[in-house]
Amino acid sequence: NKKYKSDIDIAQQVSLFPIKQLAENYLELNDDEFELFGKYKAKLSLQILERLKNKPSGKVVLVTSINPTPAGEGKSTVTVGLAQALNQLNKRAIVALREPSLGPTLGMKGGATGGGYSQVLPMDDINLHFTGDLHAITTANNALAAFIDNHIHQGNEVGIDPRRIIWKRVLDLNDRALRYITIGLGGPTHGVPREDHFDITVASEIMAILCLADSLADLRSRLAEVVIGYTYSNKPVTVADIGYEGALTLILKEAIKPNLVQTLEHTPAIIHGGPFANIAHGCNSLLATKMAAKLGDYVVTEAGFGADLGAEKFLNIKARIGKIHPSGVVIVATIRALKMHGGLKKNDLQQENTAALILGFSNLKKHIETIKSFGLPYVVAINKFITDTDKEIKTILDWCHDNSHPAALCEVWEHGGKGGIDLAKKLLKTIDEEQNQFKHLYDTASSIKQKIFNIANIVYGATGVQYTSKAEKQMNDFDQFGWSQLPICMAKTQYSLTDEAHVLGRPENFTITIREFKISLGAGFIVAITGNIMTMPGLPKKPAALSMDVNDEGLATGLF
Ligand code: ADP
Repeated sequence: NKKYKSDIDIAQQVSLFPIKQLAENYLELNDDEFELFGKYKAKLSLQILERLKNKPSGKVVLVTSINPTPAGEGKSTVTVGLAQALNQLNKRAIVALREPSLGPTLGMKGGATGGGYSQVLPMDDINLHFTGDLHAITTANNALAAFIDNHIHQGNEVGIDPRRIIWKRVLDLNDRALRYITIGLGGPTHGVPREDHFDITVASEIMAILCLADSLADLRSRLAEVVIGYTYSNKPVTVADIGYEGALTLILKEAIKPNLVQTLEHTPAIIHGGPFANIAHGCNSLLATKMAAKLGDYVVTEAGFGADLGAEKFLNIKARIGKIHPSGVVIVATIRALKMHGGLKKNDLQQENTAALILGFSNLKKHIETIKSFGLPYVVAINKFITDTDKEIKTILDWCHDNSHPAALCEVWEHGGKGGIDLAKKLLKTIDEEQNQFKHLYDTASSIKQKIFNIANIVYGATGVQYTSKAEKQMNDFDQFGWSQLPICMAKTQYSLTDEAHVLGRPENFTITIREFKISLGAGFIVAITGNIMTMPGLPKKPAALSMDVNDEGLATGLF
């Protein structure tokens, strides 16, 4: 029995290139186009985009997956491994990823920097405080909350109704106790009492704005448009109405610069922004993707969770705003997750079970259909786990072959780039040979209900959409305020195609429920919240944090 090292053990044994060397020699950046953040991290200047504006952009490859199990399906691992493989084939590939949030890192998941021999490094820095962008976003978000409460305390010139404030405070942690709170207690010198709420930072509209803005000027104008609440006569109040867009932009002036790191095979990786894909739009920043496309011939980028969430929003929101035309999609599946979709319980996953695997193909098939409905070429990447048996592997490869789905067994976790060569070759072939007729799944000019129906029907397979009376009323208000022509950002559980986490496989004949809406005018979309999804997650009974520590020399342990 081979002994496998933990992610952090592998990470700590790699000698990294100084990031300066990667920036100068590989990316050919000028001295003033990057700022070192220690030895292995750098911030990239937006001047790079200006200098390279006439250079054609590289091809964008999107990595997505089936509906994940609680551990994740290895999308980040495959994203990193695929870029490493492309580099081994002498294609200039760059990784673009989201920055991990401390909520899931300390809670469910451990790190989010790939795994095995396909990781971005230094993984402990990236998983902990990295270059401070999440702190800047948290600060900007909470500064705005403080400005709002101060505005009311100081006489409330604009007439903000304290009961109609929609701007919440945020924290980059899973802390369910902060979902509903009361602030301003203690009498007249301590502010005006009101009900308030905390979200996790990655659900903040500021995070979405940072990830969709294409310059400091665009950042400022998006921040100015943020709706913070309503007046006593129910008129929307924006940041511009109380005058803080300048300060908020200033707080974010460094955070808007993408961060450069490397994979353990020294492939450049740009990590920037990190909205979750279940409660936000789920993709790294547009600036990171655009910069990677200017600096490389291929960008391999990931959108969170299954194709029903991150990929749908990448293709309908981010690609639309950023005018990105993806060249191809990689759909990651694991045999163990497909067996769960086929009805197997978590504790039985170690056993060979091709019958459950075959039943589970229905989930993969749905996501393939989704990518096809966007008109994009795809390859299925089977992320191999050591527990997969030869018979199971043959079963899935045969199924893909018989149904004409391009597919490759992907062993990047165990072997790094070398384990992704087959996937890389199949991807290049698919991009070259297959038709690419990329289109969005809805027209923004359609009604809110029509847009949501298109997503629910084409992507989730739902037969209909129900709305609570609160959601109906909000839609009427949004129509009156002229907001109905925005794209929709769905908030839905990642585990199921429905809005109920326990319904696996490929459910049919179901409806989804829109509980309420949230306007994100600065980000430029309407958030539609389904089922009982929470924008401030809680911790599990045994958080991942229980196994984390640091030794006396400062080396991290237990970050997976
Ligand atoms: P996702 O991006 O889908 O959330 P990750 O790539 O972050 O998934 O992987 C989640 C966890 O699973 C990581 O700890 C990673 O090391 C582990 N993992 C991924 N692929 C494999 C594999 N093929 N074998 C074993 N562990 C894996």
